[in-house]
Amino acid sequence: MIVLIGSHTQYLEHDSGTYHPESPSRIEAVLDGVKRTGLEDQIRFFTPTEADPESLEYVHSQKYLIGLQRFCLMGGGAIDGDTSVSDQSWRAALLAAGAGLDAISRLEHGDADGAFLVVRPPGHHATSTNAMGFCIINNVAVAVGSLVEKGKKVLVLDYDAHHGNGTQDIFYGSDKVLYISTHQHPLYPGTGRVQEVGTGPGVGFTINLPMPEGTSGETIRAALEVIAQNAVEIFAPDWVVISAGFDGHYKDPLTNLGLRAQDFYHITNWAMQFVPKGRVLAFLEGGYDLGALRDSTTAAVGALAGEKILPKEESVRGKVSHETLEALSESRKRALGDRDPFC
Ligand SMILES: [Zn+2]
Repeated sequence: MIVLIGSHTQYLEHDSGTYHPESPSRIEAVLDGVKRTGLEDQIRFFTPTEADPESLEYVHSQKYLIGLQRFCLMGGGAIDGDTSVSDQSWRAALLAAGAGLDAISRLEHGDADGAFLVVRPPGHHATSTNAMGFCIINNVAVAVGSLVEKGKKVLVLDYDAHHGNGTQDIFYGSDKVLYISTHQHPLYPGTGRVQEVGTGPGVGFTINLPMPEGTSGETIRAALEVIAQNAVEIFAPDWVVISAGFDGHYKDPLTNLGLRAQDFYHITNWAMQFVPKGRVLAFLEGGYDLGALRDSTTAAVGALAGEKILPKEESVRGKVSHETLEALSESRKRALGDRDPFC
């Protein structure tokens, strides 16, 4: 299968601050991971264009966008304790959001079977009115919003180790977006409890699978199959959009989950089964150990290309925690009661 890889040198120009873990070298590690798939014949690189600021307004308020643009162009600085921007960040952010929109139009034209967008700044913590957690524009939400506007139903799978509070928030009342997040809990930003299930017509369309420290990839994969799969099948998405954060890798310095690179192959593959070829795109979110980031990318891009490439680092073997599965399953049932739209 053919995979589009969207990346831009401008992503290296977004300066998040000295010694910040969300550094430009992450892009280089991810591109190295793409190269190490050895799939030159199946990879098509493209250069993203800037998102038109109007296309961001489905997701972000105009006031927020104007303020952010002005703040960046005046030289930038710290927005909060974690999130800083530079004068180059606004353009990088427009190109990061634009990468998704460009990929969708290329996939709609049948150019490829899937896309992986090697972007920064990342996006899933950004809400409609706030930058936070290294994120300023919610790239995934912009792509998903453009699909929903065309009448499409979208599965968002967010496997970053942190909960994607921004994406959840933006689509919390929607029955056109099924948002599934696996993440460490408790951990920044503190949201993503099982009891957060959506609101109004969106009740049941948010599936949070918070995992205790040390949770194995096996448990996370089992949770997706046991707790989320039935809902996804009934929802029957037209598109899958993945928040591909690789900070759940056991080597990641910011988190304490137990995934290996190969788990990102399996989880990406799991999400792809619900849509036809050419209807899946993944955005880089977190991931702060450069070696783990590289290897996890190789595995995930391999999945998008239909190739099982499992990097050699993996000696750790995980087990399924049935205790975690049962606790999650019971809590979700209790939270939804008779309101489960997929029962
Ligand atoms: Zn993260």
